[in-house]
Amino acid sequence: MIPMRGLTVLPTMVLHFDISRDKSIKAVEAAMAEDQMIFLVTQQNPDDNNPGLRNLYNFGVSARIRNVAKLPKNIVRVMVEGVERGRLIGVEDYDGYLHASVDFAREREVEYDEITRLAMTRGLEELLKRYSQLNQKFGKEMLRQLLELGDFEKLTMAACVHLPLRCEQRQALLEAEDMVERYERLCTMLVREMEVIQIQGEIQQKVRERVDKNQREYVLREQAKLIQEELGEDTQLSDANGYDEQAEQLCASDEVKEKIHKEVQRLRGLGGSSAESAVQRNYIETLLELPWDKVSEDSHDLKRAAKILDEDHYGLEKVKERVLEFLAVRSLTKKGDSPILCLVGPPGTGKTSVARSIARALDKKYVRISLGGVRDEAEIRGHRRTYVGAMPGRIAAGMRQAGVKNPLMLIDEVDKVSSDYRGDTSAALLEVFDSEQNCKFRDHYVELPIDLSEVLFIATANDTQTIPRPLLDRMEVIEISGYTANEKLHIAKRHLLKKQIERNGLKKSQLEITKPALEGIISGYTKEAGVRQLERRIGQICRKAAREILEDGSKSVRVSGKNLEKYLGRKRYTYQKKNAQNEIGIVRGLAWTSVGGDTLEIEVNTMPGKGELVLTGQLGDVMKESAQAAVSYVRSLGEQYDIDAEFFAKNDIHVHIPEGAVPKDGPSAGITMATAILSAVVQIPVRADVAMTGEITLRGRVLAIGGLKEKLLAAKQAGITTVIVPEENRADIAEIDKEVTEGMELVYVRTMPEVLEVALAVRA
Ligand code: ADP
Repeated sequence: MIPMRGLTVLPTMVLHFDISRDKSIKAVEAAMAEDQMIFLVTQQNPDDNNPGLRNLYNFGVSARIRNVAKLPKNIVRVMVEGVERGRLIGVEDYDGYLHASVDFAREREVEYDEITRLAMTRGLEELLKRYSQLNQKFGKEMLRQLLELGDFEKLTMAACVHLPLRCEQRQALLEAEDMVERYERLCTMLVREMEVIQIQGEIQQKVRERVDKNQREYVLREQAKLIQEELGEDTQLSDANGYDEQAEQLCASDEVKEKIHKEVQRLRGLGGSSAESAVQRNYIETLLELPWDKVSEDSHDLKRAAKILDEDHYGLEKVKERVLEFLAVRSLTKKGDSPILCLVGPPGTGKTSVARSIARALDKKYVRISLGGVRDEAEIRGHRRTYVGAMPGRIAAGMRQAGVKNPLMLIDEVDKVSSDYRGDTSAALLEVFDSEQNCKFRDHYVELPIDLSEVLFIATANDTQTIPRPLLDRMEVIEISGYTANEKLHIAKRHLLKKQIERNGLKKSQLEITKPALEGIISGYTKEAGVRQLERRIGQICRKAAREILEDGSKSVRVSGKNLEKYLGRKRYTYQKKNAQNEIGIVRGLAWTSVGGDTLEIEVNTMPGKGELVLTGQLGDVMKESAQAAVSYVRSLGEQYDIDAEFFAKNDIHVHIPEGAVPKDGPSAGITMATAILSAVVQIPVRADVAMTGEITLRGRVLAIGGLKEKLLAAKQAGITTVIVPEENRADIAEIDKEVTEGMELVYVRTMPEVLEVALAVRA
């Protein structure tokens, strides 16, 4: 016999199991040597290694060994077929294995009538069907085979063998007294089993529900999103209604209102959170914010305007006068097509702030559009709405910002617009400025025509040269030139100081900057035509003073010429002073740059060579040609000045203009170069206190130049006492304040001999 662990074999059951106990293997070997029959009894405790009678169940099964296979690790796999049930009577251990005495008493026959048997068969069949529905392990195929049996005994036995039962259950079935008891035990087991499965299912369900809670949150969130979307539709709708209302209240033509209503209708058709609807909203809001027909009341009080202009700015008499005339005409004609003002001048001379003042004087809204660096036509005219991130152009955006159709629009830096492959910016600007067209200005983004005819345009520029010609033609240029040191002093005292003291949180009594200090700042710490640097320096002093007052507890700070360095550090600029003595080949010219005037020392040297002209100091083309003209003119003076006929063939002439890092160009150094060359060639010194400016022709005529005021200011700074000026410029001098020319002698010339007459220290 073999004691079985955790396995009960029933009659007719075919199965294999592994054995490894020595006694079991020996028993199988012994059985194989005889009739291959072996008795299988299940251990009550599977862990017992050496079970005796007491530890074995009472009933077992005799079985036929069908197959024996040796597996590695001393394991033997035995395949058996259960044959007959038997009661274990005794166990003996000898010859190395167990011997069982078994009573194969036949069990009682069942004595039920046919109907009862049928009823019992059907009852089991029903149970099996239900069981198979609950237990996946009990497959449909197995059920079908069982149901085919039909016979009570066969069905009961087959069910006992094939149902997925546990060892103890099988044992109980094996031990049943007869088939009826077995049947009853089996049914009870099935019912119990099904209950267990049901309860198991319920428990699983509960567990699952608990797990589902986490899922729930997720689902809820999803739903919340949906709800939000639904609600979004709602806000979208209420927004759309709001837009419609706003459109109705707009001061605009029916065309505009209709367009807005149409766009709002489109918005309604879009999903609440789509990107497209955001774009659409933006568009509608832009349309709603444009001024259309809304106007502000202009002030026509010229006296008040004059007062405000005077209040805000010192000097600038010509500019203010011109502006007032312009305003007078404007209010008389009551029409928008007056020319566009263009304020031209160096940086920091108050162009922008004059424009702001004008807006204040007229009670107009003020918007500023800076065109510096604008190259793309779309910046002025807007992008079409089909572009991603399309925006209205600067003009339309300016109108939106102004909120009325008649603001003062400052177009800053018109000279800095440029055109490239992205379209013609100046053409777009022309359309803006043209009174014929600008009542129906079309912005690509806005799509509807915008009326610009009532806008007061004021443009600013540093230099008229770089403004495209057709644009310049449309505009009325008002020049603002640089300020004299004296003007700067007044501006500082009256305006800048006050502004900066306020801006830096000081009180008027807390800071005093004396007149010599201001003069010191102007001459030593700024170099400019305007007053921006000056304002910044004053701001710097204010900040230092504020700190001093807080840290040291001083009541007030007084900045004088003497302690200026304490606040601003060492002096930054020293103006080129006139030379100490008359020198050969060195002449002081006067230059004009967009930031103001400067003096320019021109040096000439001659040396033996091959008659070449060397020019250094980063001269532009115009200046180079001017130098050549100057040389040619000097050569033509050969006889008059007794120059050796061979001189120009045997000597090189080198013209140099110091500060080589700064590019220089323009014709106005012509007479200066000619004088310097002649001086070098004939070795006659030039007066150190003379400066000059003027264009030269080949025949020695002197032509007019520009930027005279700045040049004279620079000359004065340098301590020059005599300035040679082209006769043609005499008229300009009349417009320049007396203050500028004070202490300087101006000599008007028509020809080079007149220049030389004055400039050369000794007559040849
Ligand atoms: P621009 O536009 O010519 O470059 P801004 O108008 O910006 O110069 O002027 C720079 C600063 O100088 C401003 O603070 C302005 O108020 C001041 N300013 C310029 N000119 C005057 C003036 N004549 N009177 C008073 N303040 C002036």
